Amino acid sequence: MTRPGQRPTTPGRLLALLHRRGTITRAEATAHLGTARSAMGEAVAELAGLGLVRVGAEATSPQRDSAGRGRTSPTLDLAEDGPVSVAVHFHPSGADLAVIGLGGFTASLEQIPVAWRHEDLESSLQQVAQRIRAAVTRSGRICVGVGVGVAGVVSGDGRTVLSALYLGWTEVPLAEILETFLPDGLRVSIHNDAALTALAEFRRGAGRGASTLLVLSCEHTGIGGALVSGHGSTEGLRHTLEAGHLVLDLYGPPCPCGQRGCLELYCDGRALVKATGHDHPDAPSGSRAIILRARDGEPDAHRAVRDVANRLGTGLASLVNVLGPDRVVLAGILGDYLALAADDLQAHLHASIVARLHQTTLTSAALDRPVLLGAAEHLFEPLLADPVQEMRNAAFPGG
Ligand SMILES: [Zn+2]
Repeated sequence: MTRPGQRPTTPGRLLALLHRRGTITRAEATAHLGTARSAMGEAVAELAGLGLVRVGAEATSPQRDSAGRGRTSPTLDLAEDGPVSVAVHFHPSGADLAVIGLGGFTASLEQIPVAWRHEDLESSLQQVAQRIRAAVTRSGRICVGVGVGVAGVVSGDGRTVLSALYLGWTEVPLAEILETFLPDGLRVSIHNDAALTALAEFRRGAGRGASTLLVLSCEHTGIGGALVSGHGSTEGLRHTLEAGHLVLDLYGPPCPCGQRGCLELYCDGRALVKATGHDHPDAPSGSRAIILRARDGEPDAHRAVRDVANRLGTGLASLVNVLGPDRVVLAGILGDYLALAADDLQAHLHASIVARLHQTTLTSAALDRPVLLGAAEHLFEPLLADPVQEMRNAAFPGG
């Protein structure tokens, strides 16, 4: 569980508005945040002085004066050379690495193939750390930190991967290992990848405006989940859920987690490949190929998708009953299931009394690479709460 930052300052609220909404006039920002014009003027000057915001040309604002005339007001924009974050997603075939600025703009993106063999884990991590280091240097910008998403259980302090079944990791002090290969002062934080997906969809994607958002996510292997709150002071508070290990069948096949008949055994990408009668379920390309064939209307592929979607629907209705979200977002191939078997999944959702009472809506995820975007969202939270203090304290390397 991650706690949101402290109550944001006026410069923080303005920077967060630009981060989420993009270019805006000063008059629109003043109206949106409900601040005094003098306070807005000070906030703009502070953010411009810190190199975070660029004040552009005067534009006619939609805000009208008492005579109905549009006022001119300078446009405000995020500085192009402002701070960046480094987001990394560890998955069974390697790591994706992105340098992401405010506004969610990706400055660079690379894929690092890694065979995660236990005996040379440290040298693999050293290799990833070197790529992180090179990416920060290349950006030439201040770096607020490194955020890593992993499919697994992460310690509350964000330092250790307690268990990542599909990477074969147990008790790996990942943050500490990476930091030994990184410049002093560049901090690493680790998160469950589904929690990062949920945060990104909540802030920038299909979860925007939800009161309680449930996200289920699957790339190919295993299913992750997270719940994000949209209420007042707990806005952005998230809980990781081991949703893939919800038991559907007590007498089902054994799961690596130690139980039997877990949800993910019936509806992740491997289950989809198996549902078409193929024997090699582990390659992620297998599930993607079936989704494409189902989209093309191939009956066998479509039947397999409906099969796994109905299993997913059974688990989903139970999760909604327990957690009470008003919106559910399905990410990765689960979003493809929804696109291809919407009636089945909506019927399962409707079977939940809680979904009917909360008028819970079900939708596919909207973002590309949500784990990386979520890691960046998390890393920018302190800066968006109090940019003046954060930049003053900045011991960030790279700038
Ligand atoms: Zn399990």
